[in-house]
Amino acid sequence: MTTPDVGTRFAARAAELDAADPLRPLRDRFVLAGDVVAYFDGNSLGRPLRVTGEALAAFTAHDWGERLIRSWDEEVGASGATGGGWVDLPAALGDRLGALLLGAAPGQTLLGDSTSVWLYKLARAAVDAADPARDEIVLSDDDFPTDRYLLEGIAAETGRRLRWIPTDPAGGVSPEQVAAAVGPRTALVVLSHVAYRSGFLADAATITGLVHDAGALVCWDLCHSVGSVPVALDAWGADLAVGCTYKYLGGGPGSPAFAYVAARHHEALRQPVQGWFGRADQFAMAAGYVPAPGVRRFLSGTPPVLALVPVRAGLDVYAEAGIGAVRAKSEALTAFAVEIADEVLAPLGVELASPRDPARRGGHVTLRHPDAEAVVAECRRRGVVPDFRAPDGIRVGLAPLSTSFTEVAAGLSEVRSALVSTNCRYSDS
Ligand SMILES: *Cc1c(COP(=O)(O)O)cnc(C)c1O
Repeated sequence: MTTPDVGTRFAARAAELDAADPLRPLRDRFVLAGDVVAYFDGNSLGRPLRVTGEALAAFTAHDWGERLIRSWDEEVGASGATGGGWVDLPAALGDRLGALLLGAAPGQTLLGDSTSVWLYKLARAAVDAADPARDEIVLSDDDFPTDRYLLEGIAAETGRRLRWIPTDPAGGVSPEQVAAAVGPRTALVVLSHVAYRSGFLADAATITGLVHDAGALVCWDLCHSVGSVPVALDAWGADLAVGCTYKYLGGGPGSPAFAYVAARHHEALRQPVQGWFGRADQFAMAAGYVPAPGVRRFLSGTPPVLALVPVRAGLDVYAEAGIGAVRAKSEALTAFAVEIADEVLAPLGVELASPRDPARRGGHVTLRHPDAEAVVAECRRRGVVPDFRAPDGIRVGLAPLSTSFTEVAAGLSEVRSALVSTNCRYSDS
């Protein structure tokens, strides 16, 4: 078999696509140093923006170093990296995120805890508020592990049971499956908008409607969709949502996650971690917990102000790009990856484990091969960084703002070489 050099073969196409890419200049805003030839994990830990280092230094020198404790209640928008107003930062940045990327009107989104902690707080609040006859929490076997574990815990704490929707690992949850799983016993449904393995993009508007028809609430996990696909929480009629900022949004390792609670639910929901930041008139330091009005009742303790500095830089670049252009580039990137995979990886036994229809796909694609684990290890030695997803997945995440088409062609060329050398080793032994 001839072995065409994929890098060369697709390099010309990649160069044309890069030249025509309106978002191409934004790639240079990211830190692109180091030995990485192709970064295929920007959907798991996004690259930092160059401005993030400067913003953190400015924050330390000014907002923190000079303004000191005064920054907590100084007017939002004063100079510096956060602009003061730290007490209001979770809600102020939440509103900005809501407007830019979530389709959420102000007063419904907060930044602060990790996705796991937010999910616990919101899911527990929703289950506690449900009629006791609604004794089921619906989830899918394709929900992210932390989601599954948290819901197991909540079911055990509250005497509810879990009802699992089985999924095709190359696909995701369909409206028909949800319709069959929900009913008068459903308290809450928790699903991912974009599946972490296959990249399947769920029909969130239709599914939300079906859950409501059954009289239950839905919580969307947006970790793999925020910053890669348009989200329209208010228009879907969503009840609750959570998502992280260290994937597409460039918040950095362990950066604060967000929570959305539709305004119509604020009064009725009581979240379980009732700390002072969620109390009405918190600085009165009065006796007894009284939930704050509005979405603030879902806060708990002192917000991670320092860790919100990079998130703000990430939102700034999304404000420039616009999610419509980001989604268009994301579809083009995954389509290019699928095209290369079909032509040069499929003959080596690689199968696509993601939807073929770009409209049903988020920002990553997963390729399946029995030697995936060895191939990913070999790729990493070659400066190509995909993710291994057990048992046989090579996940190729293409963060739209920081990934070029040239990078896709070069990286998949190395995946091919890694497959060839891995297969050779196997056939020699
Ligand atoms: C990354 C991810 C999480 C991570 O939760 P953490 O609390 O940040 O560890 C949760 N859900 C999904 C779907 C994810 O992709």
